[in-house]
Amino acid sequence: MERITAARGLNLRCKGWRQEALLRMLENVLENGENQKELIVYAALAKAARNWPSYHAIVHTLKELEEDETLVIQSGKPIGIFKTHRFSPLVVMANCNLVGRWATSENFYRLQEKGLLIWGGLTAAAWQYIGSQGVIQGTYEIFQSIARLHFDGSLAGKFILTAGLGGMGGAQPLAGTLAGAAILCVEVSQERIDRRIKANYLQRKTDSLDEALLWIHEAVQQGKAVSVGLLGNAADIYPELVERGIIPDIVTDQTSAHDLVYGYVPSGYQIGDLEAARVHATEKLQHDAGASIAREVKAMLELKKRGAIVFDNGNNIRSKAHQYGVENAFDIDIFTEAFLRPLFARAIGPFRWVALSGEVSDIQVIDDYILEAFKDNDIITNWIQLAREHVPVEGLPARIGWFGHGDRTKLALAVNQMVREGKLQGPVAFSRDHLDAASMTHPNIMTERMKDGSDAIADWPLLNAMLNCSSMADLVTIHSGGGGYAGYMTSAGVTLVADGRVESDIRLETTLNNDTGLGVLRYADAGYEESADEVLRKDIRWIETI
Ligand code: NAD
Repeated sequence: MERITAARGLNLRCKGWRQEALLRMLENVLENGENQKELIVYAALAKAARNWPSYHAIVHTLKELEEDETLVIQSGKPIGIFKTHRFSPLVVMANCNLVGRWATSENFYRLQEKGLLIWGGLTAAAWQYIGSQGVIQGTYEIFQSIARLHFDGSLAGKFILTAGLGGMGGAQPLAGTLAGAAILCVEVSQERIDRRIKANYLQRKTDSLDEALLWIHEAVQQGKAVSVGLLGNAADIYPELVERGIIPDIVTDQTSAHDLVYGYVPSGYQIGDLEAARVHATEKLQHDAGASIAREVKAMLELKKRGAIVFDNGNNIRSKAHQYGVENAFDIDIFTEAFLRPLFARAIGPFRWVALSGEVSDIQVIDDYILEAFKDNDIITNWIQLAREHVPVEGLPARIGWFGHGDRTKLALAVNQMVREGKLQGPVAFSRDHLDAASMTHPNIMTERMKDGSDAIADWPLLNAMLNCSSMADLVTIHSGGGGYAGYMTSAGVTLVADGRVESDIRLETTLNNDTGLGVLRYADAGYEESADEVLRKDIRWIETI
């Protein structure tokens, strides 16, 4: 079958730009994905559609869809078209939602096998994935935050150890070098290492630990940034570093540790062994993966004891280690609580825009606008300057930037006006990560140790999705966890299209104000002072009760 890439240019295959935009976003997640043949986009198993017949049916439907109709998708499969009205979402989705007691990995794998649901990741089935760059500013801000908290503001001369160079983990080497550090990334797959080198996310590669450490040591001595991909298994390399008494400054991991069948590769396994093991020895594979994760996490805890800053980067590695006997796995901090919560409390989070024309110049024009219009916002101007110089284009040209309440709306309205006035070559789609202030409940990632103990309450993402539908967004999704995330999370996603029309101003303004407005209130309700301040500064209508 021919490889799928997103359409470029101004020719419409659909009945309007809103529908065309969503179709290009779907194609774009596959263009940027890790394993197109299996419709897998990232995070081990996160898929764009249920199967190929569903994919083709979605494409066909989007081409036929009228502006006053809504396509309903259940776990990546199109179910029907309903007559709604022109201010309704064009697409609503629910992916991988199982009721409480049934939300287990075993049930997920069984239902997936029967073809009844998929794990959609946060951005795969929601058609919002933009490649490794999708988490790059988040990873960079984590490193910057650690620099401020622990290293006098700079990571020059500091050594970061991590693992996993997949769809999302692939952002780590570039984020590390942008932060000025020497970063060692352990990865079991040669193919993934080569892919990140080719994409200019990773600088050097080796299969020798000694050589890797030599390069890191030289960079640390000279205070220079370097990224090194080491072919190896994290479950072997992390304990080996402990054994040798080598203590990195910062330690994390972004392998797909959440999934013991399709994600984490146990020590002693070759990539080629996995397919057969998944079919014929699932229990053994899970057990071996769990045991390897336990070994790796014990090493992480030992490195922490010896002075390294160690954190979980959102892959459930602590939960799996705990399940496999590491009682104190949760002594390791989660990145959201340790480094990013003050930003989330103001609803500042990962906001993305995609140039649907395929023209890189559209992203550059928007960069210029941001540098001028947000010149007092140091986080964003610093990031845009770095990104425009160093972040490669993946798929349709896109950018991610951490914007908060009011600023997202300001940017989107300005972009819609630029489309209207012909200052951009074509329309632009906006989305944000599901890992955003109002839109995610995950008691071991986003909402761990909330001030009021509301970690596991999933009302917020559900309210968020309903509010975004009421606010006239173009696409709204509700996702829960699959694979090893089953039972761990619920989140909501939203996509908006700036097609230049005046009526799109209404969608953009209402949805973006309400999306981040609810985010601020979620944290205000939980007792965060930053949120209460944001409520006052930005005139958000909070009903403050006890
Ligand atoms: P992926 O499946 O595309 O890549 C995982 C990589 O880890 C693969 O390249 C695999 O070969 C490698 N790997 C597996 N076991 C290994 C081992 N034992 N040693 C060394 N390498 C090993 O997944 P991804 O999209 O990169 O996501 C990685 C994890 O991060 C997932 O759990 C995902 O859910 C999580 N995630 C976190 C955030 C966040 O905001 N922090 C965002 C997105 C994804």
